[in-house]
Amino acid sequence: MKTVNAEKFHRLYGVEKKRINYQDKDFADYALMVAVCAALIGFAYGPLHPMTLVGLPLCAFMLVTFPARHGVKWKVPIVLRRPQEIVYSLVHKVQNIKPQYFIALALLVAENALIAVTPNLPHHVAWMHTMAVGLFWAHFIFIACFRTVILAAHLMKKEHVRNVLMESVWKSNVERESRVVPEIFHAYCTGMLTHIVYLIPWYLVIRYANFSLVFMPATCVIAFVLQKYSVKNLNDWFYRDHWLGHNSEFDFVYLHGTHHDALPCALIGVAGNGYLEGFFRSALAFPIPFFNPLAAAFFYTGDVKVDMELHQYIPGVYPKLSREFLSVIQHSLHHYGRLEPYGFAINLDQPISAELKKRTSVLPDELKYSIRLDEQLNGYEWDSARFRWFLDLVNKYHDTPDVPPQEQAGELDARARG
Ligand SMILES: [Zn+2]
Ligand SMILES: [Zn+2]
Repeated sequence: MKTVNAEKFHRLYGVEKKRINYQDKDFADYALMVAVCAALIGFAYGPLHPMTLVGLPLCAFMLVTFPARHGVKWKVPIVLRRPQEIVYSLVHKVQNIKPQYFIALALLVAENALIAVTPNLPHHVAWMHTMAVGLFWAHFIFIACFRTVILAAHLMKKEHVRNVLMESVWKSNVERESRVVPEIFHAYCTGMLTHIVYLIPWYLVIRYANFSLVFMPATCVIAFVLQKYSVKNLNDWFYRDHWLGHNSEFDFVYLHGTHHDALPCALIGVAGNGYLEGFFRSALAFPIPFFNPLAAAFFYTGDVKVDMELHQYIPGVYPKLSREFLSVIQHSLHHYGRLEPYGFAINLDQPISAELKKRTSVLPDELKYSIRLDEQLNGYEWDSARFRWFLDLVNKYHDTPDVPPQEQAGELDARARG
């Protein structure tokens, strides 16, 4: 087994404080963070752009719902008490950037330089720009529709959602029956706003960079090669970034916290990140925004859709992960109040079906056995009472029908009566 340098993964320049939930005293910081998101949306997309017209009301919705969900207590914001934390956070992020990011950025710069010095080649820059904008919207609308179908599925099974969550650390959020629908809607808005902020770097690249039709076959092939490397070292990168999100108070409150502030279901999925955190993941971590737009749209759509599916930890509600898959990944526990695991926490080093083996065969070992990184860095143990609790929850609720049995029986009765 590869030995890992724990010091590198757990280095922190600022103040260390473990966090997994927002509290009333975070409101001033939260409001500032939402204001930064609103400013980024407004400046990047433009004041009358459809993304801004959807994004800004979502920011306002979040500002209004925080006091209602957590209460408000005044405390001087972290950025005023310890402004150096902003620099520390950026330094941490830059130190964690993997080589494929710089290669993708350098190739985009090289492509633009080559387009400029070869004006006689049929680059069709304007046509490529139109295609890129079309792909951007196709990606966003597809994911927004998928999220809306999931919203409908949760609203249709709101009683079931409540029953599951009442057995978990989310009990206080749904104890009052009238809070279930607002909580589901809040999760939907969390996912939508996170997605809008996450796409800002890609949108800016599409707007300001040029792409060449002549170079497209080569740039698409290179994008696939770089993405392959990206997936290989993704768990290393994610563990470090995610550890910071829960151990640096600044990173939690400003970046990662919103990912844990909404119900543990597919509605919140984007790239495992909070609103503002997504901007930095897209701008300072992933190579995807710099790829040819066709490759970028392909990877963004695949990644966001998979991240949504991988966050469906309310069993028995669309989009259902298989029981078996839920038994080989433990990110679920992280959304039910447990700080570790910080990595993807997949463990395929156990008896699994031929079907799961086939479906996961494309993954590199670094993801298939990603739990090993947590085991080495923080002594994580796969077998735990908490995981047995989660599997019991899955066994109890996973196979409930999408339509309640009484209604099915009622429909059959009605049909029998003609
Ligand atoms: Zn987390
Ligand atoms: Zn997550």
